[in-house]
Amino acid sequence: MPAAGEGQRLGAGLPKQYMPIVDAPMMVHCARALLAAQWIDQLVVVVAPAGAARAEGLFVDWPRVSVRAVGGASRRDSVLAGIESLDAAGDDWVLVHDAARPGLPLAALDALRDAAMGDPVGALLALPVADTIKRADDGSPARSGGTIDRTRLWLAQTPQMFRLGMLRDALRACPEATDEAAAIEAAGHRPRLVPGHRDNFKVTTPGDLAAMAAVLGARGGSRRVGGA
Ligand code: C5P
Repeated sequence: MPAAGEGQRLGAGLPKQYMPIVDAPMMVHCARALLAAQWIDQLVVVVAPAGAARAEGLFVDWPRVSVRAVGGASRRDSVLAGIESLDAAGDDWVLVHDAARPGLPLAALDALRDAAMGDPVGALLALPVADTIKRADDGSPARSGGTIDRTRLWLAQTPQMFRLGMLRDALRACPEATDEAAAIEAAGHRPRLVPGHRDNFKVTTPGDLAAMAAVLGARGGSRRVGGA
């Protein structure tokens, strides 16, 4: 779980993964969502060196969690450093999940596993685009300069699940990747698209934070599975 970003768009003076939602910081909700899956052996939380003490304090009694202060300048750098720090085999499966998507439902996680493990490449959660898509011109204020065919467009979410060796090699070769699937695609592969869930949106703005609080609050916080 890459959690080394600065999250400046939330404008809170605190990286967004540490922002409180309902009863816990956002990254704790993300960890609960992942560890609700008993088939996940180990969760490695990648933080910036400056965030190590704070993150370690959040996961003191969580035996399946380890915090590694190997975060880098970009999300790809943080993910690659985390993967390179793993004590695992090249054909082990690894899932990468944003520390900013605390609404991940267990059913979506299980669906991702089922699709990825039956696939030679791997898979990611994503949602088919429902809205009409506009391309802005370069003016200010922006004006619509065209409409993009949405027929085969999907919005990528996380987790994204690949074999460790394939993902490590793909990320090494693709410094500009903004998600794992982009690196896998650049290596010539075609990851499966698995329908995700609308609650699994990425918290970016203050409005997102309020919307996510409503999602998690309606579930009664989120299930406590951390120390178990
Ligand atoms: O900023 P954005 O929402 O795209 O970040 C997605 C995820 O990647 C977040 O969990 C964030 O903490 C993480 N990230 C990281 N290292 C960076 C930048 C982002 O681990 N340098």
